Amino acid sequence: MAEEMDTCHVCGVPRFITGEHLWLDNGDIVQARDQANRLVFMECENIEPVFRLIERTIGFPIERIVITAMRRAVRSYITHLIPQEVKEKIRKSELDPVPLARSLTDVARYFGYGRIEILDVRNQGDPEDYLIADLYRPFSVSMVAATLQGAVEAVMGSERRMSYIQLFPGAYRVTMVNAPHPEELKGRMLMQPYLHRDGGLELERCEGCGGPAGLSKYRWDFQEGIITDTVFGRRMTLIGPAELEVVFDELEAELGESVSRVVIEAQRRFTRNGFFNLSEAASAEEFRTQLALRGMGNLEDISVDRNRLTMKLRNAALPLFVVGIMQGVYERVLDRDSTLEWEVTRDSDLIIELRATR
Ligand SMILES: [Zn+2]
Repeated sequence: MAEEMDTCHVCGVPRFITGEHLWLDNGDIVQARDQANRLVFMECENIEPVFRLIERTIGFPIERIVITAMRRAVRSYITHLIPQEVKEKIRKSELDPVPLARSLTDVARYFGYGRIEILDVRNQGDPEDYLIADLYRPFSVSMVAATLQGAVEAVMGSERRMSYIQLFPGAYRVTMVNAPHPEELKGRMLMQPYLHRDGGLELERCEGCGGPAGLSKYRWDFQEGIITDTVFGRRMTLIGPAELEVVFDELEAELGESVSRVVIEAQRRFTRNGFFNLSEAASAEEFRTQLALRGMGNLEDISVDRNRLTMKLRNAALPLFVVGIMQGVYERVLDRDSTLEWEVTRDSDLIIELRATR
């Protein structure tokens, strides 16, 4: 990939984004080459604060769990993106890995992960191998450092041990060495395979590239790896929901349901304070479009009045986030508090009921 971004002349969205990903008729976004890989396009500035809030509530760091989940998901995504013969040549030290590494950091910039600069790579196929890179303005340092680790592992087909230090605020140096992961995290955290279900939802398409027309209000700063919502100024990222869900599942398995409540409560607060522009959606149809543009699922049913909100979202991604967002949107729009009931059915339908309390 070149330094310049190849963008659609109509909507301004990088062709990589709309070419390598599909916005399906059921409110899901998937990788075009492997439709079992689901992604969401979401506001990301609240991800680190949610992690910090969880840590404050439970009283210990969760970074190791976050990194493991993200690394595994990225490894799966990149494995499908890179042709097998390229990986084989790099593994045999027959091909310089740096050009490939640079094109992968371009992918990360398209995804809004910030700027990644590869400083030094040693690839002789022995235990002395290493990779050193700097990260600038990652949306989450643990998740982006883990992304780099997952990408290297996908290409090399073996595990790396990763650590990072902060150089100055917003800049980090990541070092990876050729070593297996600590034994205690192996075999835990299995991701649920993604199953597609048809939905009958059609997003308006851009006539230039065929991607969703709604993406035109986002701006890609390719040099810095920053995607911005031009209307509300929020930073966005394209990310697999599975890694965040696995993090929450893992924490819940260890700590019980209080983790879900913390995640929902954090999202409710962000949203009630105006974080998500979803609260600006004027109609159920617009709301449905906004959720589908984010790949969060297919809004089948919603009913809202001053006393009550009920909704059903099919194949919901990140249900804890959606629940918290919905509660925040409802409370913000009506300026009332609410009680919450929700469940995810066996078919991955998210059902939410909110009742206003004052
Ligand atoms: Zn376009």
